Amino acid sequence: SDGIVISEAKAHTPLVYVNPSFEQITGYTGAEVLGRNCSFLQGVEKNQPELEKLRHAIKQGTDCTVVLRNYRKNGSLFWNELRLSPVENDRGEITHYIGVQTDITQRKAAEEQLFHQAYHDALTGLPNRALLMERLREASIKSKGQPDYLFSLLFIDLDRFKLVNDSLGHAVGDMLLIVIALRLEACLSPGDTLARLGGDHFVILSENITTPDDAAALAESINRQLQPPFCLQGHELFITASIGIALSGSDCSRPADLLRDADIAMYRAKQAGKGRHAVFDTAMRDRAVALLHLENDLRRAVYELENGISQPFFLLYQPIISLATGTLGGFEALVRWQHPERGLISPTEFIPVAEESGLIVPLGKWILQEACRQLHHWQCQNPNFSSLTCSVNLSGKQFLQPDLLETIDSILAETGLNPDNLKLEITESILMENTEAAIATLSQLRQRHIRLGLDDFGTGYSSLSYLHQFPCDTLKIDRSFVKSLGSDPTHQKIVRAIITLAHALDMDVTAEGIETTSQLEQLSALGCELAQGYFFSPPLSAIAATSLISSSQPSCPYRPRSCS
Ligand code: C2E
Ligand code: MG
Ligand code: MG
Repeated sequence: SDGIVISEAKAHTPLVYVNPSFEQITGYTGAEVLGRNCSFLQGVEKNQPELEKLRHAIKQGTDCTVVLRNYRKNGSLFWNELRLSPVENDRGEITHYIGVQTDITQRKAAEEQLFHQAYHDALTGLPNRALLMERLREASIKSKGQPDYLFSLLFIDLDRFKLVNDSLGHAVGDMLLIVIALRLEACLSPGDTLARLGGDHFVILSENITTPDDAAALAESINRQLQPPFCLQGHELFITASIGIALSGSDCSRPADLLRDADIAMYRAKQAGKGRHAVFDTAMRDRAVALLHLENDLRRAVYELENGISQPFFLLYQPIISLATGTLGGFEALVRWQHPERGLISPTEFIPVAEESGLIVPLGKWILQEACRQLHHWQCQNPNFSSLTCSVNLSGKQFLQPDLLETIDSILAETGLNPDNLKLEITESILMENTEAAIATLSQLRQRHIRLGLDDFGTGYSSLSYLHQFPCDTLKIDRSFVKSLGSDPTHQKIVRAIITLAHALDMDVTAEGIETTSQLEQLSALGCELAQGYFFSPPLSAIAATSLISSSQPSCPYRPRSCS
C-alpha cells in the first residue's frame, strides 16, 4: 500500500519510477509525473520545517524520514511520511534516491483529535486546564525574559449556577454553560485564551491587560455581556459572575500560584456580593492562609469533640427578658471556641468557616444537644421555670440537612426537653434562598411545637411577600437598628414598622443588643415583647446562668416531662 518513487541523482532529480500505489495515493498517473521533481507534491508549501531535514540528508548522502504536507491531484491535503534512501553504484557514487511514501492522513487526524481532546473541554470546546497551564507557563517564561511583558488572569465563577443545575436539571445547566462560553468569547481580544476549568469556572489569560484598570474594564464588560437574560427551553435565566483578577508581576513565581491568586480574588469578589470583581493583593493570600489554618484547627477541634478527646467548645447563655413582666423568659445559647494557642475565638470568626467546611453539621448538633441538656437540667433543678426557653442558632447548612428533623427528634428524646421550650433561630437569608424547602421544614418543626425565630431581621434581603408564609413565632430585630434608635429617627420608624409587621403576622418581637435605658424605653413603648442585650446581661457561663435562675422570679409553675 505504500507509494514507491525512484529519482535520478542529477540536476532536478527527475522521477524515473513510481509504483501503482503512488498513483493511487496521489491521483497522478506515472506518465504525468515521470521526469518531474517530486517537490511538486508540496504545492505552494515550500517552507515546511521538515523539508530542511530532507535537504540536509540529501546533501550528506544519508537516509532520512520526514513527514510532509503533500497535495493530491484533486488538491486535497495528505500527510506523507517519506523515507528516503540514496542508492550507490559499485564505485560508491549516489545515482538514485528511493522514496517510500506512507499516507498517514488518518493517523494524523486521530492524533490531532487526541490532542484536541487532551487540551479541550468536551462540553464547550474551549481550552481546558491543561492547555491553559501550558499557555500560562509560556507567558511566565516570556515575562521572565522581558520584564515589561505583562499579562493577567481572570478567574470567573458564575453566581448561583448550582441553583440552575439543581432546579432545571443538568441538561439545561450544560446548555447554559455553552451559551455563556459564547458570550465570554465575545469579550476576548486577539491572543487571549478563554479556558473552562470544569463546573462553572472559566479563566481568561490576557496579554492585552497590563493594569488593574484594564482588568477591571474587562471584568465589567464580561458582566455586561452576561446581563441580557438567557432563554433556554422556555426558561429565562439571569446570570452574573464573580471575577478574580491576578496580574503578572514581580512575585508571581509559578503559573499555578497565579491561578490560585486569581481564585482567591474571585472568592473575595463573591463574598462582597454577586456580579463583582476583585484584584488580588498579597493581604488576600495571607487571609486565605490564615483561614486555612483556622479550618484545620477547627477540624481537629470538632474531631476531638466528637471522639471525647477534649472539650474545645462551650456555650454561653444570654438572658432574654420578657418586657411585660420584667422576668427572665429564656436564654440564647451562644457558642465559644477555646483555641489551644489563640485563646477564645468568637463565633463570628469561626462559624462562617464551619459553614463553609461542613463542620457546622457535627458542631451544630453538639450545640443543640448541649443547650437542650442544660435547659432540661435547669428545669429539673428549678421546677418553677416551666416556660423558660432556650434559643439555639441554626446555620444555613444545618437547616438544609435532610436529617435535621430526625436529629432534633432524637436530641429532644435523649435530653427529655419539651419541644416548646426550644426555640430555633434562623436568618432570613437562609429562608429566602430556599423558600420552598424552608417552608416545608419550618412547618414540620411547627408541628412538633418547636418555636421559630427569625434572627437579625432587617439586615438580609427579605421579600415581604414570603414573610407571611414562614410559620415563625418571633422576629428578632437586628442590633444595628436598636443601636441607632436614639440617634437616627429613620431607624425608629423602621423599628416601629418591623414591630407592626410582626404583630400583623402574629409574631412577637425580640430586640437584641439593648445597651441603654433609652433604647429599652423606646422598644417597650413600641410594644416589643422580649429584650436581650448588655443592658440586662452579657452572655453568661452556665454556672452564672444557674445562679441567675435561682435568684429570679419564676414566671409560671413547672411540670417537667421527665427528670432523672
Ligand atoms: P446572633 O445570633 O445575632 O447573636 C447575638 C450576638 O449579639 C451575640 O454575639 C451576642 O453576644 C451579641 N450581643 C448580645 N447583646 C449585645 C449588646 O448589647 N451589644 C452588642 N454589641 N452585642 C450584643 P456572639 O455571641 O459573638 O455571636 C455572634 C453571632 O454568631 C450570632 O449572632 C450568631 O449568628 C452566631 N452564633 C453564635 N453562636 C452560635 C451557634 O451556636 N450556632 C450558630 N450557627 N451560630 C452562632
Ligand atoms: Mg441569634
Ligand atoms: Mg441576631
